[in-house]
Amino acid sequence: MPRQTQIGLMSHAELVSEHETQTANYAKLETEKLTLDLTRGKPSPEQLDLSLELLTLPGTEFRDAAGTDLRNYGGQQGLPELRAIFGELLGIPVANLLAGNNSSLELMHEVLTFSLLYGTADSARRWVDEPVVKFLCPSPGYDRHFAMTQALGIEMIPIEIGPEGPDVHAIAAAVAADPQIKGLWAVPNYANPTGVTFSEDIVRELVSMPAAAPDFRLFWDNAYAVHPLTDTTEPSLDVLGLAATAGNPNRPFVFASTSKITFAGSGVSFLGGSTANLDWYLKHAAKKSIGPDKINHLRHVKFFGDADGVRAHMQKHRAILEPKFALVLRILEDRLGASKIASWTEPKGGYFISLDVLEGTAARVVALAKAAGIALTPAGSAFPYGKDPEDKNIRIAPSFPPLGDLEKAMDGLATCVLLAATEKLLD
Ligand code: PLP
Repeated sequence: MPRQTQIGLMSHAELVSEHETQTANYAKLETEKLTLDLTRGKPSPEQLDLSLELLTLPGTEFRDAAGTDLRNYGGQQGLPELRAIFGELLGIPVANLLAGNNSSLELMHEVLTFSLLYGTADSARRWVDEPVVKFLCPSPGYDRHFAMTQALGIEMIPIEIGPEGPDVHAIAAAVAADPQIKGLWAVPNYANPTGVTFSEDIVRELVSMPAAAPDFRLFWDNAYAVHPLTDTTEPSLDVLGLAATAGNPNRPFVFASTSKITFAGSGVSFLGGSTANLDWYLKHAAKKSIGPDKINHLRHVKFFGDADGVRAHMQKHRAILEPKFALVLRILEDRLGASKIASWTEPKGGYFISLDVLEGTAARVVALAKAAGIALTPAGSAFPYGKDPEDKNIRIAPSFPPLGDLEKAMDGLATCVLLAATEKLLD
């Protein structure tokens, strides 16, 4: 009889033998003394080099198209020329898009804290005066969204996410019934970490579903709008227009940035919203800043020229990223495919691959990898409160390591996945 490769179907003797093989593989891995890192979705130095010219821009220029001196205070909405470029890419009219400083995460934190401290444009009272504030959290999702929400004392409710987006039936039922649900986190395009792009039906449902809270908000973090890994870029749907048509113009707050387009940490962030939402934001933001870094805005305008300039630039990122994603997927298939104890996403864009290992083994896999010198994000970090109910999800970030390191790290990770699975099944 041929030897069984599907781990779940192995006889006890085959399982023992597989465990011995993987224990030996792991011992060999340990002798390699690796120091590899698959944790954060950072651009690689090669990707950052694509934007090197930014360091020489804008030269001695300091005026916008209208002749305004950008070296001075003011211009709270950000440079109109830059807002026009990204408005086209994000599907947002210029009037509904602000350009900010270097971090969209900071904008999300501001919108949350302003809502807590002052209430939104539609709130009956400040969110801190509510008995409890709850957010729906499609999971696996972005760990920093959840960390921020937790740090601000907001209760998180996990929602499942499928290939078309989050479970809108569960969301609709929760939002209609509970006025304490004030928000939903969403990464609509090439989501972190699943790579899922929300379908138009799901977007339409989210903007139109009745909500018990009049100040229910979608925190629409379109961080990967222009980050395809294939020839086709999934469009960014006009979430503001759809929400307005559905009678909920103030529901979405849209966030984006150039962190994974130019320099992560020295790019430009964007905030999109209805006129009422942007007026509300600017009123409160004016108490903490006299305007964003408009010279950086100008630098980005000079660098890109127009929206096609951004699209062409993103194809250069793709050329660097695509082989890394292909390598990860090939190793996963080669090493884990036949075993059928793991499944993974095959994203068409974005920065991550989401790996599901045998239930109850993700934390063990991460610990084994760590001991062998391969750093992974802690198991559970893509879930509210860091708790993966099935202890099976691991986020893989292929962008930063060079191909050689990535290959070693993935091969090592596959060994850890197989070892943890055989341990568990023999337990
Ligand atoms: N939003 C998502 C979904 C991300 O994955 C990231 C970075 O990984 C960010 C936001 C961070 O954005 P920024 O650098 O603009 O703060």
